[in-house]
Amino acid sequence: MIENLKAEIDELVPDMVAMRRDLHEHPELSFEEVRTSGIIAGRLKKLGLEVQTGIAKTGVVGLLQGGQRSDTSRTIAIRADIDALPIHEQNTVEYRSQNDGVMHACGHDGHTAIALAVADILTRHRDELKGDVKFIFQPAEERIGGAKPMVEAGVMQGVDGVIGLHLFSNYPIGLVGVRAGTVFASADHMDIIIKGKGGHAAMPHGAVDPIVISSYVIQALQTLISRETSPFSPAVITIGTINGGTAFNIIPEEVTLTGTMRAYTKEHRAYLLKRIPEIINGVASAMGGSCEVHFHEGCPPCINNPEMTEYVHRAAIETVGEEHVDSSENIQTTGSDDMGYFLDAVPGCYFVVGMGNEQKETTFPHHHPRFNLDEDALPIAAEVLIRSAVSFLNR
Ligand SMILES: [Zn+2]
Ligand SMILES: [Zn+2]
Repeated sequence: MIENLKAEIDELVPDMVAMRRDLHEHPELSFEEVRTSGIIAGRLKKLGLEVQTGIAKTGVVGLLQGGQRSDTSRTIAIRADIDALPIHEQNTVEYRSQNDGVMHACGHDGHTAIALAVADILTRHRDELKGDVKFIFQPAEERIGGAKPMVEAGVMQGVDGVIGLHLFSNYPIGLVGVRAGTVFASADHMDIIIKGKGGHAAMPHGAVDPIVISSYVIQALQTLISRETSPFSPAVITIGTINGGTAFNIIPEEVTLTGTMRAYTKEHRAYLLKRIPEIINGVASAMGGSCEVHFHEGCPPCINNPEMTEYVHRAAIETVGEEHVDSSENIQTTGSDDMGYFLDAVPGCYFVVGMGNEQKETTFPHHHPRFNLDEDALPIAAEVLIRSAVSFLNR
């Protein structure tokens, strides 16, 4: 392991913070990260890495070849997401967003700065590395659209393991969360059209009321969770919008619903994707109506491989001490992250680094207009990544 790693990272903290603030000041939406990816590619090239740009539009990959690589050596990928959100920033910090209506309100500015610092330090120790490190800067995480095309473009070919992290504001600064198994849920959303037969509200017997059908459909969908899902397997179905009708005395022709579905295993996700249209069809046809169900594929769950998790777990203990490493269920969320695609391609570990700090007002939820980072989390995250990568390559 690199000697005096903490001191080396400390030296880089001003640079890491400056990079994060620069990105924060100039946020870019999903698939529009042109300035951001230009900065990333420039940095990686300056370090002497083999750089590929334009993957999945604005994605960047940098390959660092270890000086002691051999035929049997392994390659580890470090993934960071780079996009911002359509939010008007309400922080008054001097580095607040200059791009009105766009904001880094999820911490991806931090993820990018951390990964660049890791590339910097590992490059300095290139001669000692027993394998290769691939840095993957992924666009469009927020819209769940960047990871899949990167994997399809082949960025995981030749990669033996992948690691990455999310900074968490609802998790205190100084704490690192690492856990094997599922940590983020899958996500898919759906459009549902319930079709009936319009008519006069006073004469329902001459019509088929899609509003009444919709009310049964919504109830029946919840039974997929309460009656068909094991209480030990988290899953969620939420109907977020319901639209139909034009006046109090008219039965409309159709009602449209939209919703989201989350699951914790690939098998359960597939089961619910099959059962949702079945149950809607059954209810609608039983009541004389019909339906259309359209799914929009989101992402698979983030499932951490036990062996990869062990590397990260040990690295976290070395970084913050055992008492500050959390492996409990607290890290699990029914939120989603398209890191799931990379974890589906090769064994990996997605961990969380706390950065909530009341004093610094960094406990606002992700995607909130006052979201901000406690930048003390940046060196912690960088150290865990470096230690995990080096121990994975050294085996
Ligand atoms: Zn987000
Ligand atoms: Zn995020």
